[in-house]
Amino acid sequence: MYSQAVPSPPVNWKESVLLAPYTTLEIGGPARFFVEACTEAQVAEAAQFARERDLPFFVLGGGSNLLVSDEGFDGVVVRVCVPVAARERREGDTVLIDAGAGENWNDVVLYAVERGYAGLECLAGIPGDVGGTPVQNVGAYGQEVAETIVQVRAFDLEQNSFVDLDHEACRFGYRRSIFNTEARGRYIVTAVTYRLSPGGEPALRYADVQRYFTASIKAGQKPTLRQVYDAVRSIREQKGMLAGQGGADGRSAGSFFKNPVVTPAKLPQIALGTGCREEEVPRYPAGDGMIKLPAAWLIERAGFRKGFAMGRVAISSRHTLALVNLGGATAAELLALRDAVVSAVMDKFAIPLEQEPVMLGFSSTG
Ligand SMILES: Cc1cc2nc3c(=O)[nH]c(=O)nc-3n(C[C@H](O)[C@H](O)[C@H](O)COP(=O)(O)OP(=O)(O)OC[C@H]3O[C@@H](n4cnc5c(N)ncnc54)[C@H](O)[C@@H]3O)c2cc1C
Repeated sequence: MYSQAVPSPPVNWKESVLLAPYTTLEIGGPARFFVEACTEAQVAEAAQFARERDLPFFVLGGGSNLLVSDEGFDGVVVRVCVPVAARERREGDTVLIDAGAGENWNDVVLYAVERGYAGLECLAGIPGDVGGTPVQNVGAYGQEVAETIVQVRAFDLEQNSFVDLDHEACRFGYRRSIFNTEARGRYIVTAVTYRLSPGGEPALRYADVQRYFTASIKAGQKPTLRQVYDAVRSIREQKGMLAGQGGADGRSAGSFFKNPVVTPAKLPQIALGTGCREEEVPRYPAGDGMIKLPAAWLIERAGFRKGFAMGRVAISSRHTLALVNLGGATAAELLALRDAVVSAVMDKFAIPLEQEPVMLGFSSTG
């Protein structure tokens, strides 16, 4: 797949394109230049376009994990729309699925589920494109893409050539990879290969998913991949976290905060702050003796409820972790709400909440 850049028409660029419609938050000013790149050759040309003008460069996928500043971005935004080239091939008792960076993520999950390939079913209903999935190691309901990604194909802006990065080279962790840490801004992902298990069992690791199937599991019936896919989409819809859901709760970037990872030594202070017993503080093992705390639980106990509004921005009425644009909001308004939440959690628990969405066009981000 994609072994050589194929000739294609010159890069199509536009000037001063408003970015808000390209983001799920529907917030953000214009990009100085906006380029759509649908082949590998166009991706390379887009990089060249920015280099020739000595402008900063930003890769846009589905805009579902992105907050753009009200001033916009004084550089080149490339919207990667590379479609699929080859779909699947067998390797031993696994199947490798190649997906183009510009493909809709849920379409790929559905493709796998319909053919009985296990490994992606709990990642149904996450907005965005394939190219965005390795960036923050997309995860939900007990699965993350790092479990299945074997290769990421990308244009390397430093080497000025295409590279194939294997799983190890991506250095995946909780909501992280080289693409959003040490090599941030270096690669334009054009394709991702996932290794799936034909005939494999669906993952039922997460409490919400297990609860959904309690009755059938008790009756000795194992849910199918398709049933888990549907269940996850239904759970996500109830939480206002389903791709393309619409309405005010749909204008979000999903979870605005990561679940903090802390040492168990933090537990007494958290228990004290909430008036509950230490063993009542919800937590999940996070490896190396650390624990992961649900950020939503901390935010609620710091005084913020679902639906809490500050003018044109609010906490989602269905999920405490999502900050939403009620309509016509600015990035400045959203950041004021973010800061209020972060300060309250800091004051109460001395825990710094880390933001999940990427920032574009703010002074510290170019
Ligand atoms: C309602 C809702 C629910 C969500 N639920 C989840 C969830 O359960 N789990 C989860 O992990 N995330 C979730 N998200 C966040 C988001 O959907 C994912 O992070 C998604 O993978 C982002 O993909 P995107 O194409 O929209 O990327 P964008 O938002 O366009 O970009 C995000 C980052 O990835 C980079 N990027 C995108 N495409 C490429 C590429 N081709 N090459 C190089 N870099 C690229 C961008 O430069 C940027 O840094 C949710 C978001 C919403 C709105």
